[in-house]
Amino acid sequence: MTVSPDNQITFNFIGRVNSPYKEKFAIPRQPGLVSAAKGSILLLEDANNEELLRGIEQFSHLWVLFIFHGTEQQGWKPLVRPPRLGGNKKLGVLATRSTFRPNPIGMSVVKLEGVEQKNKQLIINISGLDLLDQTPVVDIKPYLPYSDSIDDARAGFAQQQPYQALTTRFSSQAQQDVQQYQREYLGLALFIEQVLAQDPRPAYKKRQDDDKIYGMKLYDLNIRWQAISDNELKVLSIHRVN
Ligand code: SAM
Repeated sequence: MTVSPDNQITFNFIGRVNSPYKEKFAIPRQPGLVSAAKGSILLLEDANNEELLRGIEQFSHLWVLFIFHGTEQQGWKPLVRPPRLGGNKKLGVLATRSTFRPNPIGMSVVKLEGVEQKNKQLIINISGLDLLDQTPVVDIKPYLPYSDSIDDARAGFAQQQPYQALTTRFSSQAQQDVQQYQREYLGLALFIEQVLAQDPRPAYKKRQDDDKIYGMKLYDLNIRWQAISDNELKVLSIHRVN
């Protein structure tokens, strides 16, 4: 790492995320909302050394500090429109968890599922992630409940969980498709249900009759779905994509 006199810092990432979320659409807004999401962090170069992880299994959860690599090229803005305010009210970027920040640094608490080593590659298995595939990781720290959890904290517009969980139904075609893919992707139906429960549609779509068919990419699968009422979504089909 270098810190230069002209207010610049340069450092290398220590890892890369392997995530089932291959595109931004339908990624939950925060970690822990989709507990069935399973991913991993591959440690890189000098950080790919088991000494860095000695003792980590004593912790159930980790903070992952990362770079919003999927949006950083779009730059940043001092004011942003948080989606949960319907996309029509502006707040200061530092008063939100927007990805469009002066330094595109994200932080997520994830569940530690275990550590393994395959062909000299250290892999930290995690769940509940809200991270795009290939996200660069700049640091990992243990979550400390005694100081990281504040019972009487105020959270303004984000005090509550952002949605009322929707119910997901599977068409008969989608049920057959789940049967076909669930051997490869354990817990696939639950994962899809949890992702859809948070209603990934843009805020303005939820306010009107919406018969659009949506596609979302989880793993290498395209999942097609549609709203069938205000509180129900239906999975139409699941196909492998390249
Ligand atoms: N928990 C983090 C935080 O508070 O810093 C992220 C919150 S941000 C509101 C969550 C959104 O970031 C996800 O819904 C996803 O669309 C987006 N995201 C996740 N990983 C990303 C990446 N590597 N690049 C760009 N956007 C990403």
